[in-house]
Amino acid sequence: MSMTDLIDEAESVLLHTYNRYPVVFESGEGVYLKDIEGKKYLDFVSGIGVFALGYANQEYNDAVKGQVDKILHTSNYYYNVPAIEAAKAVKKVSGMDRIFFTNSGAEAIEGAIKTARKYAYLKDGQTDHEIIAMEHSFHGRTMGALSVTGTPKYREAFGPMIGNIRFAQMNDIESVKALVNKKTCAIMLETVQGEGGIHPATEEFLKEIRAICDEQDILMILDEIQCGMGRTGFMFAWQRYGIKPDVMTLAKALGCGVPVGAFMMNQKVGEHSLVAGDHGTTYGGNPLTGAAICKVLELFEKNHVTENVNEVGAYLYEKLDEIEASKEDIIDHRGVGLMQGLEFNHPVADIINKALAQGVVLINAGTNIIRFLPPLVITKQHVDEMLEIFKNCL
Ligand SMILES: *Cc1c(COP(=O)(O)O)cnc(C)c1O
Repeated sequence: MSMTDLIDEAESVLLHTYNRYPVVFESGEGVYLKDIEGKKYLDFVSGIGVFALGYANQEYNDAVKGQVDKILHTSNYYYNVPAIEAAKAVKKVSGMDRIFFTNSGAEAIEGAIKTARKYAYLKDGQTDHEIIAMEHSFHGRTMGALSVTGTPKYREAFGPMIGNIRFAQMNDIESVKALVNKKTCAIMLETVQGEGGIHPATEEFLKEIRAICDEQDILMILDEIQCGMGRTGFMFAWQRYGIKPDVMTLAKALGCGVPVGAFMMNQKVGEHSLVAGDHGTTYGGNPLTGAAICKVLELFEKNHVTENVNEVGAYLYEKLDEIEASKEDIIDHRGVGLMQGLEFNHPVADIINKALAQGVVLINAGTNIIRFLPPLVITKQHVDEMLEIFKNCL
């Protein structure tokens, strides 16, 4: 069947919740994807920050396949070795103390919200606690995650949201302080906003939030679902700034292709929040995703992935800065490591479509921003290859 026929079929059976680009991918190797007609594409999206290790990594694939033949699922009423090993491995790289595995990012956010509410409930017995989140944030599509997502158009049709969510401005500490009160149980933000347009939190902002949270025993929740797992050149973006959240959410590159997320917390929160019966999941923490996570973290260390991000990320930054300086319609360049964005003064869909036709996969963040989220194993040569085509599309 041709690609156009397949796309027609897809549009007749799938719920139309995405305006998809007209391509059907079939396989991948390294940092390249192949569509069903055999055309090759250089990938600067990595499945929205998922495939950090690139495609068809043999060691990763073998680990996942090996687990398929042993056992895929037991139940959280029993223990399994891959989940225990994965928990230890994530604890080691993050310095967080306790973990709960989920199947997605949105579920990790749900868990973080419940953790914060329960922590506050145990202190004062009240059930009207407030959470401060940020404008332009993105935390996922389930009702709780949507409620803390700072883009009104995502929320509007689905009201009422869960209650008592307040929105502050990213990097404006006064806007946060104005909302803090006795009912505040958490301040939640992405260390680097992804979908909202690649807006990194400043070191000063993070430190001031940390101070407010320490002073008032409020939980600082950092969403590292997109910016975590090496993406910014540190295993977790907050590690660059010498602060530590009380609760952190993970997903996307945590499993590098298998659907998994997690929320983690420090010991204090672990001892004073969710207990048996408070939270659960059927699939979360299954042996398959556990085996994948263990291998991912092993390969990150063995292949010096964060070092590569720092080196190639700096190179990409320099090159995109040059492009920004040479084009009047580019109004900003932001980002950290291999999570960067170019903001235009017009919609970018045309540029993305042109690049796709020429064999480079890019994605937007909002209508006017092109987001660069390549696999974390790309090289400077790949950056050059991407830029040559990208420049043609401008
Ligand atoms: C993708 C994303 C989510 C939601 O994750 P899903 O797995 O799609 O539910 C939440 N927060 C951030 C920062 C994300 O980038």
